[in-house]
Parts: sequence; structure tokens; C-alpha cells
Amino acid sequence: MIISTGTASGKSLAYLTPAVASCLDGGTVLYLTPTKALAADQLRGLRELRVTQLRAACFDGDTPFEERTWIRQHANYVLTNPDMLHRSILPRHAQWSSFFRRLRMVVVDECHGYRGVFGSHVAQILRRLRRVCARYGSQPVFLLASATASEPGAFAMRLTGLEMAEVTSDGSPKGATTIALWEPPLTELRGERGAPVRRTATAEAADLLTDLVLAKVRTLAFVRSRRGAETVALTARAKLADVAFSLAGTPVDGSSSTASAPAGGNPGALPTPSTTPPPSDQGTAPPGSEQGALSWGASVPVPVPESESESADWAALPDRIAAYRAGYLAEDRRLLEKALRSGSIMGLATTNALELGVDVSGLDAVLIAGWPGTRASLWQQAGRAGRDGQEALAVLIARDDPLDTYLVHHPQALFGQPVEAIVLDPDNPYVLGPHLCAAAAEIPLTDADLPVFGPTTPNVLDDLVTEGLLRKRPAGWFWTKRERATDLADIRGGGGAPIQVVESATGRLLGSVDEPSAHTTVHTGAVYLHQGETYLVELLDLEAGVALVGGAEPDYTTFARDVTEISVLASLRSHDLGPGSLHFGEVEVTRQVVSYLKRRLQSGEMLGDEPLDLPPRTLRTRAVWWTLPASEVAALAEEGFDLGGAAHAAEHAAIGLLPLFATCDRWDIGGVSTELHADTGLLTVFVYDGHEGGAGFAERGYARATDWLTATREAIASCECERGCPSCIQSPKCGNGNEPLDKRGAIHLLDTLLRSAPAAS
Ligand SMILES: [Zn+2]
Ligand SMILES: [Zn+2]
Repeated sequence: MIISTGTASGKSLAYLTPAVASCLDGGTVLYLTPTKALAADQLRGLRELRVTQLRAACFDGDTPFEERTWIRQHANYVLTNPDMLHRSILPRHAQWSSFFRRLRMVVVDECHGYRGVFGSHVAQILRRLRRVCARYGSQPVFLLASATASEPGAFAMRLTGLEMAEVTSDGSPKGATTIALWEPPLTELRGERGAPVRRTATAEAADLLTDLVLAKVRTLAFVRSRRGAETVALTARAKLADVAFSLAGTPVDGSSSTASAPAGGNPGALPTPSTTPPPSDQGTAPPGSEQGALSWGASVPVPVPESESESADWAALPDRIAAYRAGYLAEDRRLLEKALRSGSIMGLATTNALELGVDVSGLDAVLIAGWPGTRASLWQQAGRAGRDGQEALAVLIARDDPLDTYLVHHPQALFGQPVEAIVLDPDNPYVLGPHLCAAAAEIPLTDADLPVFGPTTPNVLDDLVTEGLLRKRPAGWFWTKRERATDLADIRGGGGAPIQVVESATGRLLGSVDEPSAHTTVHTGAVYLHQGETYLVELLDLEAGVALVGGAEPDYTTFARDVTEISVLASLRSHDLGPGSLHFGEVEVTRQVVSYLKRRLQSGEMLGDEPLDLPPRTLRTRAVWWTLPASEVAALAEEGFDLGGAAHAAEHAAIGLLPLFATCDRWDIGGVSTELHADTGLLTVFVYDGHEGGAGFAERGYARATDWLTATREAIASCECERGCPSCIQSPKCGNGNEPLDKRGAIHLLDTLLRSAPAAS
């Protein structure tokens, strides 16, 4: 069964009740979550139940070895993550035999996180789990909990391979929420190719947070990075301090000299939020003031609860804003929850880390700086606002990105739309192959197992035998190598040995990045975000498989830029689209990261393009592409449009918009455009999956092409810049330095392609 409902609707209680009951009944429960932090929180909650028969324990990479034996033999409620299940529990299933024999229930929490390639790996791990359970004679119930998603039952079935019932009705009390879509103004600053620079979402978030706290509205601001969150908090504190100062110490003339005037029962003298200028009029803040603020210490300030006179209230306002990030101890988090509930903290700026581990409900407003990626996460974050069924406010602040631009200009794309389906492709042979090896190493595979792993299994098995990875014998398929079969699958990456990210000063391993992504995320000089913390990559050593990083506070962000070539291996599906045609198929992509772009954090201003020396990488993947016949493009060329620039601009914007239809990240996909492609002989625009074998994103683009390309056209047309900017056709990852680009040409090109297609509603 899958329960797919909103934030704070009681999902945990819904699975805890039967899970704990199973334990009391002599059974065992396996609880899976994507992160260790969430498992630790769950464990705390279980212990607070004080049920003596419940022997709950976390089993993850941090669990000491001396505790592991006890857990295997005695725990009846084990909390772990897919990585641990894959690497440790399933390969050593014999040691877990008594646990598996009694296994009644598998809880898969936060399962909306299992999408794309990672989700496909988890799907195969769950199939291996089912097979191991069957070996020990158990047939556990799978109970999945997810944020709201489209067709959750179908998703759950793809994830587990089992028929699934879905629970989607949410009976928890909720007041109405007003949603505002907020577009920051263009500034006088100039970026790449003279394009106008939009005011940043963080600067706008700081203004709005100030105004809301002044209006005594309890507000939560979601910001992408810890540094961003701290900057928002600090800027808002500084602005509130100014207000408090102007109230307390500005004797303009004798008649209004006392600081206590507001407390004297004269509300008319108070500066109401409406007297502060609207943020859109404020232009960019002077960089100096924000520089100073950045050096402020980063500990979470939890003010002592107080409730004196209103004048004290005003003076204390700056202290009522805090920043929060991942990694705080549980006690700090509980204190913070308390401070938020009591109102001693009025404004909290946070990374998404908050989604994992802090229970904040009872807020009045939520600010979301930048599109959070899906409608599902938008509603999840907005759902934090609204206490006791009261009305609430949520503001989505656009970043300078084509998708954000499109959304704030097209509310119909957000409202009245179903949330996204969660996309994954367990049949991807690059995912399935390694798990078949791991499964064979656990228990030799037989014909009876094949249906468990899906329809492509026989072909993939043949390939594995040919490659010498598995051996076919009359009794089935065997793993005969000395190596660990589980090392073949890098479940959070896309194949290849992952690059270890190591803090150079301490030697601490922060995490790993799959090899293909390493070129774009941890190249030398990159600003690397890890759990909301900022690091600077000192050196990427591909041969050693290590990226050395150091904690840093640079005032810029980096974007890797690559040049790409693409060749068509096979067109799997195609149909006419307007006068042109649309294809989905297999391609080979050669990509080389050539430089990286630096942009100032606060203003978005371009700071330069630094060259890099990295080898090209070849990727076999899947792509969606469209072509236009020569007769059509000739007409456009005659009108004076730059065809190459038009196709290039359409490609950039299309990459920006695909995440709206395919639940992926802009960085999961790439594109190539050309006036004349060698394989098609026509003007062609490709958008491909950035993962070996594909991840299902391009396929979604093919299926939703008309809506997707219509939205792309609208995103370009609705941006008020004249010749293109980062909010429409410029791409921060363009290997050609955003040259050539033709904004009007792109609109005409897409109009031509969509000519006979039905207009999207
Ligand atoms: Zn623009
Ligand atoms: Zn480009």
C-alpha cells in the first residue's frame, strides 16, 4: 500500500501503528529512508513510545561493529537506508536469517525521493529484498509513504514490482493558503553578452522576510544553500535593526523624542509594513553591507522567550530571526521547534535540510526562493504554513531561469494541475545488470526469478554471461568472481567508480560524486554544496578518484560549461510534428567540460569564465529530438533570423522547461542544436538524458512534446528582456559562451514547429 498525502497529514502514525503492532505480535519490521538523519529521528520517536517489547535500532554506516551482531540477532524494528540494504544486509542475508524469517512489514518512507536513476536502483534493490524474503519463507507487506504525487499506485508498483493499493485522501484540517508568484525586477547590472541581470531571489527573500516579521507574521524562508539561508537571515536582521534604531533613537523634534512612544499606546506611530518601500523598488542593495554581514558567526541563535511591552518587542525584533541548517544536534532542533511555536522566533531562513528532521508547523507564511523543482515539493513547502486551520501565505520567488520565469508568468501551470508523476526506469539495462549480478551472488538465479526482475531480464542475463560476469549452469546463473558483486552498482550515481570528495584539512570523507557528474560538480575551482555547506574544490584528481575540498565562503557560485557532440544510433519512435518531425531514440554523446563561469552570489553579476583541462567523456544514452525541413528554415533565414542562434536559444529554453514535465533537474539533461546535423541532414535540436542508458526524462519529453515545446515558446516570449538573458535563453552551462543566440528567431522556429499542433490550454 502507498499513502500519498500532504505535509503533516499523519502519514507516520499511519505506518507506525501497524508496524509496532507487528513487532508486539512477534514479527519484525524493516524501515527504509533515504537519509541517516531521518532514520535517527524516527528512532527517537520510537523510543519515546516506551514500548518495552519494541527493540528498535538504526543500522547504517555509522553503526559500531560490536552493535551490529546484537541488531541482527535481537532487534525487531531495524531502520536503515537503501545503500546499507544493498551493500551489507542483502549480501549477508544468512546472518539476518532470523530477522528475515519473521519479517512482516517493510516501510519505505519518503519514497518520492526514489526517482530517476537512483529510484531505478532502489527498485531493483527492493526486488532483491523480496527474493531474499521468499528464501526465508516470509512475504512482508510493503507500506510506502510519499509526498503527494500523481498516480502514486502506478509509481509504487514500478518501485516494488507489486500490485499496490493507494491512499490519497487527506482528512487533516487545513485553512486556505494564498499563493503569490513573485518576479524580482531586472537591475542595471549587465551580465554575459550585455544581458540584463535580474535581482536575486535571496535578496528579495530577505526583503519579504523583513516585511513579514515587521507585520508579526511567523515566516519560514526556504533557500537553496546554508550560506544563502544565512545571508537572508542576516540581511533581514540588519534591516530590522535599522527599523528598531529609527524607532528608538531618532529624536526628529522634541515632540516625538521618546523611544517609548510606540509602547505608549499610540499604534499610529508604528511603522507598519506598508510604509516600507515594496521590495521591487529597492533596487540592488549596496554590496558593502552584505559583505560585512557574511562574516557573522553561524551558530543558531535561539532567543530567550520573552513577552514584555511592545517597545521591547520592536527592539528585540532582529533577534527573532534565525538561520537553520542541517547537522544541528537533536536538542538544538527541539529548542528551535519550541521557539518557533512560542513565537520567540518569528522568522527562520533555512535550507531544504528542514524537510528532514524538524517539525515546524504553526507558521503563518512561507517564502520559497527559487522553484523547488516540482509542484509536489512546492506544495510540500507551502504546506508548512497555516496553524490550527488558519489562513496562510506562501510566496514563490523566481530565480533568473527560464522555468522560474515561465511559472511566475503562467500560474495556470501551477494551479489546478496534478502534481508530478515520479519517473523511474527499473528496466534500464545499466541499472538492472549490476543488480542481477548482486542477486546471483546472494542466491543463484533461476528461471523462476526472472519475472521478479522485469521483462528485459533474459536479454540482460545473456549479455552478462557473454561478458563473463555470470556463469550459466543447469541449475541457474551464478556469480563466480571473487569481487563483491555489489560494487558493480553505484546506486546514487550513474556508473563508473565514484569520485571521493575529501576535506583536505582533515581528511574527512564528505561523500562521493559519480564520475560523469564529477566533471561538472567538483572540477578544480568549483563551489561545491554538501548538505547546505559550501566548499571550494582545491583539486580534482581523476586518476586518484579524489576531489580535495576546503570549507570556504566565496561570494560567487560556479557553473561548469561543456561542449557537446551527438550522433544518432537509432531512432526508436517518431512522428510528425507540424511541418517537422519528432524522434525518440538512442544516441552517443561526447561531452567535454571546458571552463566554468563565476557569478556573484548576491547580485548574479558575471565575474568571469575560467578555463579547465578535462578529458572528453562518451555517453550512450537516450534523447528526444526534432527536425525542420529545409524549405521551412529557408523561409526563416530569408526573414533575417540567425538559424543557428534560433535553434541554440530554443535548445537552452527547452532544457530549462523539461523539468516541468519530466521531474528531473536541469542538470540531469543536456542538449545539442545545429543548423545542419550530419545524421539527420536537417536543422535539429536534441535534448538527452545525462545518465548512461537514460533515465526516462527524454522519453517523457517525447511523450509530452507539444505541451513542453509550447511552454518553451511561452517562457521565451514572456521574458521582458530584449535580446535574451538568463531568465529565458541564456544557459549558465553553455559551452559556447551563449553564442550565437537569437531570441526572436527561437520564437519563430518554435511557432513553425507547433503550427498545426493543437494549442495547449
Ligand atoms: Zn530574458
Ligand atoms: Zn549553448
